[in-house]
Amino acid sequence: MKKVMISPSKYVQGENELCNLGEYVKAFGNKALLISSKDDQGRVQSLLDEAKQRSPFELLSGGFNLECSWAEVKRLKAVVEVEGCDVVIGLGGGKSLDTAKACAYLTKKPVIIVPTIASTDAPCSALAVIYTEHGEFEEYFFFPQNPNLVLVDTGVIARAPVRFLVAGMGDALSTWIEARACAKSFAQNASHGNSTMAANAIAKLCYETLFEDSLKAKAACEANVVTMALENVIEANILLSGLGFESSGLAACHSIHNGLTVLEETHKFFHGEKVAFGAIVQLVLENAPQEELERTIKYCQSVGLPTCFADLGVTEVTPEKVMKVAIGATAEGETIHNMPFPVTAEMVCGAIFAADKLGAHA
Ligand SMILES: [Zn+2]
Repeated sequence: MKKVMISPSKYVQGENELCNLGEYVKAFGNKALLISSKDDQGRVQSLLDEAKQRSPFELLSGGFNLECSWAEVKRLKAVVEVEGCDVVIGLGGGKSLDTAKACAYLTKKPVIIVPTIASTDAPCSALAVIYTEHGEFEEYFFFPQNPNLVLVDTGVIARAPVRFLVAGMGDALSTWIEARACAKSFAQNASHGNSTMAANAIAKLCYETLFEDSLKAKAACEANVVTMALENVIEANILLSGLGFESSGLAACHSIHNGLTVLEETHKFFHGEKVAFGAIVQLVLENAPQEELERTIKYCQSVGLPTCFADLGVTEVTPEKVMKVAIGATAEGETIHNMPFPVTAEMVCGAIFAADKLGAHA
């Protein structure tokens, strides 16, 4: 059996670690292009200044127009070429990081990824989501290599709004649930191989870490401080979930998320928040033990993740609406078809209704 596991070349996580950015840039050259919005850069400017003092390097601000579009990628690609940059740095949330990955790939330069929030497991992946200039989904862009370095400053994440961290817990919650399904069905992962024992173990550790440390981590983030629990959850959200999803595969949770996006009401909710509800739906779909369902719902409610339609802003639940979600979730190419049994839109529709009842607040 062909097994494939992929990962970034290096992962570094620590409080004030951004102050050592110069040291990391030096591994690739002297001149770096920073792809980051003004706001995101502003939040960490004092750390970047300290980094330049500690180990001087040239940092050129390329800005970021807030959309990971081909136009923006090409604009920044031209800057790298004209200015002769040695390395590309993406700093911020998902879109600036994806733009940096795409820009680095097209210019054949190394890339350093600096997430300033822990809301998804995208930073470590060899993938970017490309949007039109108006913000509509355009395509997935897969790269042959993962980032050269993912650099996570836990202090920066501790000072970010807590809702981002909680959304990241939702994204990470699905990792083991989906990995387990893919292992049962021998589904292929994103890099066209079967999962390794290592990737499955990482996905499981991700899940266990969340149940152990999420509440403590949330409290730390609310107080804007770094604790061991927060460090563990940041590692779960970014590294463990990142390696887990990419090398073990996705199944129903993420397809349910994609289906939910057809409902306008859910647009103001983060990726991980919708994925959390998707996790409950997958557990119903596969008829997971009652105890596991209860434990998962209780976990989501304890940290503040949605467990029913009302939590996702959908107050009028009609069979037509739910069927629309189910049809979206079971479209051709959706990862729900990695489940170890054939899945139809009718089955998903039923599972969503049952999950909504189970997760409804008393
Ligand atoms: Zn995700």
